[in-house]
Amino acid sequence: MKLIRFGNPDHEKPGLILDDGRRIDASASGSDYDERFFGGDGLMRLAAWAKANASSAPTVNPGVRLGPCLARPSKIVCVGLNYSDHAKESGMPIPAEPILFFKSTSSIVGPNDDLIIPRGSHKTDWEVEMAIIIGRKAQYVSEADAMQHVAGYALHNDYSERAWQLERGGQWVKGKSCDTFAPLGPFLATTDEIPDPHVLPLWLKVNGITRQNSTTAQMIFNVPQLVSYISQFMTLLPGDVISTGTPPGVGLGFKPDPIFLKPGDVVELGIAGLGESRQVAKASD
Ligand code: ZN
Repeated sequence: MKLIRFGNPDHEKPGLILDDGRRIDASASGSDYDERFFGGDGLMRLAAWAKANASSAPTVNPGVRLGPCLARPSKIVCVGLNYSDHAKESGMPIPAEPILFFKSTSSIVGPNDDLIIPRGSHKTDWEVEMAIIIGRKAQYVSEADAMQHVAGYALHNDYSERAWQLERGGQWVKGKSCDTFAPLGPFLATTDEIPDPHVLPLWLKVNGITRQNSTTAQMIFNVPQLVSYISQFMTLLPGDVISTGTPPGVGLGFKPDPIFLKPGDVVELGIAGLGESRQVAKASD
């Protein structure tokens, strides 16, 4: 299934994209896509509801805004430098263990919402990433069992303010957590839609120019390794998001001068099987 949420910010309703591309309102299935939904039998109930009701469910007009593809989770855990070439362009060694950092959940927005360049920012940058959505509580999970804890995957742009991430001391979280820095979606693809998450081409363009173009095959630590690893340090709750790192081509890596976003820039990105998104950069109020 392909899960969407649609409507005005903070008032989104659950929906689905059908195989024929039609977007339907799934409110009548009974639940938003939140922790309780993923942790219970929400996906099974939704599938049963869709089987019986999809053809008669109300269509969502193509002009209706898409929200983030799941309700606000308890956490976004990000993986740093998980593509070997990206580590190289950042001038950092290939990590021996996954590098983890948090991103605030208040940074989550819809896939095509504006990117607001934060006040005082001069180094706002892009990062196309595959996000893992946790389906079942994960605590001390083995790599062999890890995939049973995954509900699905989504497209994510891990926007980053490089000066705040790298030049202001302390943890990366300062440069990762601004409002609008986590567009999620267009949809959450359940695991049956993505038989192998480690072969997906992913790309990102700025103003029509391709800046990132790689495949999830280049990830240093794969999906089961990441779920298992992170679950040794914290309990992953249903609906939690793991963002799996970005390939080369971020603005910070350009030589001789890095490229950062300015108002009016258009960022488009996609992952095969996970759809595409588009953000227009705007100045902060
Ligand atoms: Zn990232």
